[in-house]
Order: sequence, then C-alpha cells, then structure tokens
Amino acid sequence: MKLYSTNNKNLSVSFKEAVFNSMPQDKGLYMPVEIPQLDADFIEHIEKYTLPEIANKVASALLKDEIPADDLKALIDDAINFDAPAVKLDEKTFVLELFHGPSLAFKDFGARFMSRVMAYFLKDGEQLLDVLVATSGDTGGAVALGFLGVTNTRVTILYPEGKVSPIQELQLTTNGQNIRAIEVKGTFDDCQALVKQAFADKDLNAKFRLTSANSINISRLIPQTFYYFNTYAQLKKQGLIDLIFSVPSGNFGNIGAGLLAYKLGLPVKQFIAATNINDTVPRFLESGVYETKPSTQTYSNAMDVGAPSNWVRIMDLFDNDVEALKNIITSYRFNDEETLAGIKEIDAKFDYVACPHTAIAYLAIKKFRKENPEDKSAAVFLSTAHACKFPDIFPVDIAAKIEIPKQVKALQSKAHHADKLGADFEGFKSYLLKNAD
Ligand SMILES: *Cc1c(COP(=O)(O)O)cnc(C)c1O
Repeated sequence: MKLYSTNNKNLSVSFKEAVFNSMPQDKGLYMPVEIPQLDADFIEHIEKYTLPEIANKVASALLKDEIPADDLKALIDDAINFDAPAVKLDEKTFVLELFHGPSLAFKDFGARFMSRVMAYFLKDGEQLLDVLVATSGDTGGAVALGFLGVTNTRVTILYPEGKVSPIQELQLTTNGQNIRAIEVKGTFDDCQALVKQAFADKDLNAKFRLTSANSINISRLIPQTFYYFNTYAQLKKQGLIDLIFSVPSGNFGNIGAGLLAYKLGLPVKQFIAATNINDTVPRFLESGVYETKPSTQTYSNAMDVGAPSNWVRIMDLFDNDVEALKNIITSYRFNDEETLAGIKEIDAKFDYVACPHTAIAYLAIKKFRKENPEDKSAAVFLSTAHACKFPDIFPVDIAAKIEIPKQVKALQSKAHHADKLGADFEGFKSYLLKNAD
C-alpha cells in the first residue's frame, strides 16, 4: 500500500514511513493511493468468519505488500484479542460494544494495532522509539495499555490535572515498565501544546526518535474498519443485511474507518455521524460552510472537538464531492440535556447502561428513523466506551447498575505514579532530557 498526502497526490510513501511520520510534512493526511475491493465471495460468506479472520482478510487486502502474511496474522491475533459483540436491543436495533479491550474504549483497536505495527517495523538495535501523547482521557489509556511491554518503545503521556476520570487516571498511572505518566497543571490544550512543541524542538529531535500516537495515524484507522465488517457478519447471520451505522464522533477517525470499510466493499446503507454541540460537521452538511470553532466542554468529553482532525480524510475519500458524501452520511447534534435523557431512555427501554457518547449515537438513530420512516434497515449504534469511565454523568439509580469490569478491578490494587509538571515547555523539555534513559 502506497500512500499520498491529501495536500499532494504526487507524494508516494510506504506504509512504514506513513506510520512513523504520522503526518506528511505538508500537514495533509496520508491516504491510500489505491483502495482495493474485497472479493465479493468473501462478503457473500462473511458470516462464516471470526473477528480475527475478518481482520486478517481486510488487513491483508491493504497491507499484503508491506507485511508478509504470516507476520500480519500473528500481529493481528495479538492485537485483536477481544470481542466486539453487536448486542441486540430490539428486532432492528443493536449496540456494538467496542469496549471489551484493556482500556474499555474502542481506541484499543487502533492503539493495539498501531503499537504492534510500530514494534514490527523497528529493527533490532534501532534507536528506542519515543511516543509522546497528550490525552483528555481515553486516548492515553488506550495508547499506554497498547504499548505496555512492547519492546524498543517508550510512551510518555501528558494529561491535565483533575480533568480525567478516576478510572482513566488509573489506566494512565499504574503501568510502570515502558510507560510514564505526567500530570500537567493545566488543560488538555496545554498538554497538546507541549507535545506539539516537543515535536518541533531541535534538541529533542536530535536526541530522541519521537513519534506521535494520535488518531490521524493511518495504522489506527485500518484496524477500526475490522469491526464494521464483523458487525455486518454478525447481523447477516441473523438475516439482516440492510444496515445503518451511527457513530459517536469527535475527531471523525471512527466514522472515517467506517467509510473506508464502505469503500473497501462493505455494503452499508447509511452512516450517521452523531456529535455533541461541537457540531462543525453537522453544520457543514447543513450549510456547505466548513467552519471550525474552539471546543466546548460537554458530558461526552471525548467528542469535544471543534476542528475534527480526520475530516479532510473523509472529504478525500469522496473526492471532495459534498453531494456524494451527503448520500451516505447524515449528521445530527445533541446537547447535554438530550444526552442525559438518552441515557435514561436506553436504561428504561432496554435495561442497558450506555456511556454519554454511546447515548448520542442512539439518539441519532431515533432521529434518523423519525425523519426516514420508510427506511426499514437494521440500525447499529457504536458504543465507544464502557459507562464506568464516566461515573459523574449518571443519575444514582443508573450509576448503581454499572458493573466495574475485571480489568479495572485489577488496576485498583496496583501502585500508581505520575510525575507532575507545569504547563511550560522548558520544564517539559528538561524533564525529557533529564530522564532520557
Ligand atoms: C475518541 C472517542 C470518541 C470519538 O471518536 P473519533 O474517532 O475521534 O470520532 C467517541 N467516544 C469515545 C468514548 C472516545 O474515546
């Protein structure tokens, strides 16, 4: 698979190069030069395959020239070692649980695959790979747990003091080994600014082999296509082949992967991009004007993004044809009050506890059905995280129903540690230089 930049279609880099660069120098995003079509026979009989088998089929269509088949299979079996069940709520409504990985969020798919791809491409004796990541909660946990124990890598995670939930903090601070957590006196934006400055700093680049692990990395996008195919397989087994996906969206990586799956040949009738009031994309699809704005804090804070970093990629997938895009994507926004009402409704109707992000995707299906009463497709809303990661949002009676998964219980008894830093770059830089080995 060769990749170009959305800013320069003449560029052509290898997958390995795209993975380590994360972003082309011209600040575009990497996109595959060619999107292969999965063979019709595979789609026709997809219900016979397991998630790792489907993952392997999809990944090898894209990466067969980059990673030999046996290595790719081993890598996938190691990375995708948990389930993604589509749980039936009623005859035509399903919740796709993407939170059965170590950090209890869908980002585990991307982070685990990316860490193993990076480790695979790092040759013995090569310089240690230093991954720097700023997190508002979910990304950090997935990256930390994804890279934990992966040889020849070290991860430094910056998170804002007092702004991540207790379980997220446990996931960031209990790892040890090749993972270090830094609690920054500041906001998520401060953390992100520190990481950005580090990438631009001459001294740090001379000393370290730095890489980012953010959601624009192409190796995070690819594994997120797997569960769309796998969901189609699960529903096909039940005789349902007309499918709508509703995706809680922030940086639009998850839905971008869904659209990539569609381009690879997955039959999907409609995607719904569900957002909170950080609604740059719904506004764009309504007005045709793409206008980013500073993010606003909401209950679904992993979607508090005013300038979705993967949107350019989605436009590129559709050759910037907004009408073509609108045929396949609808987008709705919901505020906090509606989110809370959605959580209560899912609980009352289905006795199911959904996290705030998930509730927004549910609401978007309801709205779509109301606007399109003739559409009888089965609808799947993606549950991007386990409810226990956002304990403050729920009314007490619903909170009481949330079961804490075993992964979290295991962390509670572990020692935790975070280094504490201010939000100034000089402090961060000298920390990195002092703790170089
Ligand atoms: C990251 C995240 C999202 C948003 O996903 P994008 O790929 O950025 O659109 C939604 N929900 C949860 C729980 C997340 O962690």
